[in-house]
Amino acid sequence: MRYFPTPYPDELLGSVLIRACHHLGLPPASLVKVLEDGSSDLFYLYPSFFQGLSRLTNLSSSDLLLRHTVFPYAAIGLPTKRRALLERELLTATARGNSVRLRAALGLHLEDLSRRRFCKQCRDEECKQIGESYWHRLHALPGVFVCPEHSEPLCVSGISVLPKLSNVNAKLPQEVDGSPVDWGLDAHTLQRLAAVVLESIALPAETWNDVSIEYQRYAMKIGAENRQCRWDVQQCVLDFNRLYGEVFLHKVGLQLTSVGSDAWPARLANGASSSPLLQLRHILLRLFLKF
Ligand SMILES: [Zn+2]
Repeated sequence: MRYFPTPYPDELLGSVLIRACHHLGLPPASLVKVLEDGSSDLFYLYPSFFQGLSRLTNLSSSDLLLRHTVFPYAAIGLPTKRRALLERELLTATARGNSVRLRAALGLHLEDLSRRRFCKQCRDEECKQIGESYWHRLHALPGVFVCPEHSEPLCVSGISVLPKLSNVNAKLPQEVDGSPVDWGLDAHTLQRLAAVVLESIALPAETWNDVSIEYQRYAMKIGAENRQCRWDVQQCVLDFNRLYGEVFLHKVGLQLTSVGSDAWPARLANGASSSPLLQLRHILLRLFLKF
């Protein structure tokens, strides 16, 4: 077998592809031929080429999917049947097909969420220790706006995750510039938010089958603390809006259009499912209800 880079812990497959281009001295279009599995374009965030990558890295397709793609994040909020379907689809489709499945989950219609993010401290430490830096999967997830390891605000680069990999964008963190974005949320809440993303990814798949029961139990508990024997929906929605603030909610495209029982946090707690950024909605609601 010819040389191919081994994925680093939590490295996105797109980052492995970029490093392969660097190490083998090939443009992305030529790397496609090395991967030999019938797909066409390479992307930063949309997974594909599982057969070729599995052969070249000696890791199984399902290992690659679980450890090196955004699949565990995209599966947040999905009942086990839909999760299994998503897994099958991601493993078998081309990157272009998978872009359709992942765009809404990752909020790629929003400017600040559609650009590659990195942590300067991670980058500097990696360059020192391993001689190169790489793109982390966790840093690409909506809700992770500070590095879970260093608690530093992530830098947003000028590179969009949307186009296919080319000579122009096949770059590693040490080759790009970026600066933190003001998300309109205090550092402590941003850290707790990142922690809830990590926790949500690791929850057992069955958690999401009847998650609204769990949410309503928390909401009742909040009601009880306020000496009420019911879930005060309107008060909860108002408190939710106060916790995150309109600036942040607007920035992530999840502003409330009302503060009544038809507000999205109330509908989500009642079991509403499909909507863009479903995963981030669950994460914001979980943080609100549990703390
Ligand atoms: Zn870091």
